[in-house]
Amino acid sequence: MMTPTAVPLANLEMNVVYGCNLKCEYCTHLGRFMKGLVPLDELLFWYRSWNTKIRPQNVRIMGGEPLLHPDLEKVIYGTREHWKEPRIELVTNGLLLPQIKTSVLTALKEIGADVTVSRHFDDPCYNPLLEAGLETLRKHGIEPHISQSHWWWMKCYRIDEQGRAAPYQSDPQKAWNICYVKNLCITLIDNRLYRCPQLGCYAYAVRKGFVPSGWEVVLDYPPLTPACTQEELEAFLRAEACEQCCICPEEFQYADMYEKINLFGFPKARKLFCGDTLDEPTSNQNPPVYAWNPGILPLERMDQPPLL
Ligand code: SF4
Ligand code: SF4
Repeated sequence: MMTPTAVPLANLEMNVVYGCNLKCEYCTHLGRFMKGLVPLDELLFWYRSWNTKIRPQNVRIMGGEPLLHPDLEKVIYGTREHWKEPRIELVTNGLLLPQIKTSVLTALKEIGADVTVSRHFDDPCYNPLLEAGLETLRKHGIEPHISQSHWWWMKCYRIDEQGRAAPYQSDPQKAWNICYVKNLCITLIDNRLYRCPQLGCYAYAVRKGFVPSGWEVVLDYPPLTPACTQEELEAFLRAEACEQCCICPEEFQYADMYEKINLFGFPKARKLFCGDTLDEPTSNQNPPVYAWNPGILPLERMDQPPLL
C-alpha cells in the first residue's frame, strides 16, 4: 500500500533472473557474465520493503531473461499485488516465449501487463526465432511492444587487448553528460536501490565473483537501503554525476550487432538456438565471425559465466 508521502519515480526495474539465454556483449545488466535468479519469497520481501516508500509509474520485470524464472507466474501476480497502481511491464528477448506455460501468458493478461520484446539482431537464423516468440504472444491476445535494441547498441564497458572485459575509466562528469538512463531506470537489487542497472548489476557481479578484478570501483557506490528517509530518497533521485559514473563511456561508442554477439557464427550456438531445421543463410547473408571475441566462445557452458 502506497502512502501519500511515497516518493514518485519513473521506472523501477527488477532483474528477477540474472542469467540469460543470450549472452550479449555490452549488456548493461551484464547478462554475459551473470547467473542465478531472485527467489519469489525474496522478491516479495523486497517489494514489501519499498512499496510504501516509492511510487513508480512503471514497474519492469526483467533480467537477464525473466522467462527463465521457474515461478514467473507467481512473480507476475505478486508484482501486481504489491504494486497496484503502476503500469507493469515484462521485458524479454522473446526467444523462449514459445516454450513458456500458457498460465504465464494468462497471468500477464489478467494483471494488464505490457510486454516489451527486445530485438537484438536482424539475422536470417535469428529472425524466425523472434517471430515465433511474437506469434506466441499475439495468439494469446497480447500485442508486444518491440524495442529495436540492435539499432543503438552502446558499449558499456571496454574489451582490452587480451579480450578481457573491464569498466571504462572515464571522467565521471563527461560520462554523466551523455548518460541515457539518468535516474530513469532505478534498479532494485539485493533489496537496495541503485540509480541505474549498471551500478547495481556490476556490483552484484563483483560480489558474486562473476567478473575478474578491475570492477571493484562499483562497490564504492552507496545504494539506498529500506531504512532510508524520504529526504534521502528525494536527494537520491535528484543526484547528478557520482564518482562511480567513471565506469561508463564518456563518448558514444556503438557496437554493431555481430560485434554484440554472433551466436549463429558458431556451430554449437546454431544447434542450440536453431536446431537443424533452419535453412543455411546464403553466402551473402552469412555474418562475419568474430572469433577474436573470447567472451562468446565457450557456449557449451551457457549456464555458467564465460571464461575470461
Ligand atoms: S538478451 Fe538482454 S539481458 Fe540478455 S544478455 Fe542480451 S541484452 Fe542482456
Ligand atoms: S554509472 Fe552514472 S553514467 Fe553510468 S549509467 Fe549509471 S548514472 Fe549513468
